[in-house]
Amino acid sequence: MSKIDWAKLSFSYIKTDYNVRSYYKDGQWSELEETTSEALTIHMAATCVHYGQEAFEGLKAFKGKDGKIRIFRMDENAKRLQNSANGILMQPVPTELFTKAVVRAVELNLDYVPPYESGAALYIRPLLIGSGPKVGVSPSEEYTFIVFVTPVGPYFKEGFKPTKQMISRNFDRAAPHGTGHLKVGGNYAASMRAGKIAHDGGYSSVLYLDSKEHKYIDEAGPANFFAIKGNKYITPLSESILPSITNMSLIQLAEDMGLEIERRRILLEELSEFDEVGACGTAAVISPIGEIDDIDKNISYTFGDPNVAGPTCTKLYNKLRGIQYGDEPDTHGWVTIIE
Ligand SMILES: *Cc1c(COP(=O)(O)O)cnc(C)c1O
Repeated sequence: MSKIDWAKLSFSYIKTDYNVRSYYKDGQWSELEETTSEALTIHMAATCVHYGQEAFEGLKAFKGKDGKIRIFRMDENAKRLQNSANGILMQPVPTELFTKAVVRAVELNLDYVPPYESGAALYIRPLLIGSGPKVGVSPSEEYTFIVFVTPVGPYFKEGFKPTKQMISRNFDRAAPHGTGHLKVGGNYAASMRAGKIAHDGGYSSVLYLDSKEHKYIDEAGPANFFAIKGNKYITPLSESILPSITNMSLIQLAEDMGLEIERRRILLEELSEFDEVGACGTAAVISPIGEIDDIDKNISYTFGDPNVAGPTCTKLYNKLRGIQYGDEPDTHGWVTIIE
């Protein structure tokens, strides 16, 4: 492998040595296959290509001060991929196959796990696709499961800084009884145009409102939304948001810190009452939000110092990162250690 400049890594694809695959055919999953190929040969009529039978996951492995590698909550990613698979009629990947593939993909690419000091991590991308041919709309009879890895840089190169998000009723991410709660590629295709408009306007993301009434806060683009109000951690209850494992973990840590948890619908107007707001997900853990602009109504909501993350966001962020890198005790049994 060529030398990687860990300090210069961003969130983009870098080739590693191996990826692992398993194929579902005739009612069973194949033995895990290890390959150096980055290419995929599939039937041109595969259901993933035409009808979007595709789901994915995202998780990370971290190298600690002790040199050990820790994978964060992969059993939860396994469960969520099964849920996504069931939601779009794909063959679910058994938990044992999932975790074995994730561990194997990391073990085969140990040289690509960034050193502790870099603040970078190894991003793990499992994906499941319908790979058998269909011309009519119906689920594939064959599936391909792949896990590849790629090193990614620290999300906050210039420090843990708040970003700006925008609200517009011209964009919806997912319908109330649609697929918003599944981690499927189709949701991302549906949000790309809005995402580009947000980025072009200087925003990190669109903050979506519920698509039925446009009254409640739903999802912060590819991340969950949460707010801090006094001693409360508040996060939306909605059937169209993706159940974030980071959010689930932050809820637990917030509870451990003595915060009160509220999972409920959040009216847009409540933004003016919050002390801190943030988006959370595997990529950034927490991305603090300093300003939200409702561009249809020309209203701006701001939160604390626009250049500095709030105290509760900072505490939660440090605690979760500490557990992931092994600096803090793993009291909830969230990490799998690879020697
Ligand atoms: C993956 C994802 C998240 C974050 O989930 P994590 O498990 O915390 O990484 C949030 N929202 C959407 C739409 C996602 O696809």
